[in-house]
Amino acid sequence: MKAVVYRGERDVRVEDVEDPTIDAPTDAIIRITTSAICGSDLHMYEGRTGAEPGIVFGHENMGVVEEVGAGVSDLKKGDRVVLPFNVACGFCRNCENNKTGFCLNVNEGFAGGAYGYVSMGPWRGGQAEYLKVPFADFNALRLPEGEEHEHDFAMLADIFPTGYHATELAGVGPGDTVAVYGAGPVGQMAAYSARLRGASEIYVVDKVEERLRLAEEHSGAIPVNFAEVDAPEFILDATDGGTDTGIDAVGYQAQKPDGEDEVPAMILNNLVTSTRATGRLGVVGLYVPSDPGAPTEEAANGRLLFDIGTFFEKGLKMGTGQADVKAHNRQLRDLIIAGRAEPSFVVSKRVPLEEAPDAYARFDKREDGYTKVVLDP
Ligand code: NAD
Ligand code: ZN
Repeated sequence: MKAVVYRGERDVRVEDVEDPTIDAPTDAIIRITTSAICGSDLHMYEGRTGAEPGIVFGHENMGVVEEVGAGVSDLKKGDRVVLPFNVACGFCRNCENNKTGFCLNVNEGFAGGAYGYVSMGPWRGGQAEYLKVPFADFNALRLPEGEEHEHDFAMLADIFPTGYHATELAGVGPGDTVAVYGAGPVGQMAAYSARLRGASEIYVVDKVEERLRLAEEHSGAIPVNFAEVDAPEFILDATDGGTDTGIDAVGYQAQKPDGEDEVPAMILNNLVTSTRATGRLGVVGLYVPSDPGAPTEEAANGRLLFDIGTFFEKGLKMGTGQADVKAHNRQLRDLIIAGRAEPSFVVSKRVPLEEAPDAYARFDKREDGYTKVVLDP
């Protein structure tokens, strides 16, 4: 079958790879109908991780069940499903507590499992014609038959629940004010979720105009262009002392306004500035553990640069980590079915799998029209 294979820095190719097979009785094979490219894939694509050439990318997958193992009792051939990006067993201590992003049985570290991702276990990605899903009864969410809402449902694999998770970590409630740093796909979904949860004012910070406009239009956000104003100071002034809650949807690769340098702790420090005392923060942008081999000295010492003193003085709270997709995606699916959520507004392009290399390059440059790209195998 065809699949998107990582070959090195900014080099992905569509190649022939072996078809997946049922290896454990709890496996299922899914015929992929949509697989999205994610900002998280760019960490590997840009060569900033230890990803080995040969990895098949793709953790935002949906499709139709093609085949099930003898131990799969719930799913059956022909079921339409979306697959949470977390691979999880369903029965370890963390899965039992709904913390499927930290499953103890699918990976050696504590980072949990994911399809097609470095350091997240051996699971092949789904930017391909077929995907093997382990513990399939647990790791698939059933969808209504047919083709309706394809792109809405595709967003349930990662970014919609991840954006929602950010609002959950920050405890965004009715009437709260929120600052969302980053208007990429994850920031869009965080702002959208904040609106679903009844936030009164939502500030969204980025410098890509198209993305700021999207957040304004679909989430009622107040756009803040950090290339034009000092974003945290602007938000502080506009809210008379800071927002109740704040969200990091950028991570350690935060850029300065000129786009030249990355300042890994910038967003955390922005949040400390623009959140009111006793406020709450949700951090879903990616941070990597301190690593002497990291590309910049700041990244190598990342954990030292965060202003814990002001964080402490303001009595702020912070939640972090991979989203536990399973904890939210049934509920978010039902909002879509009921016509109360339409996360597909973020999808700007659908291209055949063969065009993945071009789509990666354009998404990486944050070109207009490439905010969220989905692949059609
Ligand atoms: P993206 O790269 O498309 O979006 C990041 C956005 O941040 C861009 O629009 C960029 O212009 C903006 N940005 C850069 N510097 C900034 C700054 N100083 N201030 C404000 N905005 C700035 O990626 P994405 O797909 O939206 O993902 C965002 C982050 O979320 C990534 O780090 C990704 O790995 C992470 N992520 C985490 C989870 C999770 O489970 N926690 C899931 C998916 C993605
Ligand atoms: Zn993703």
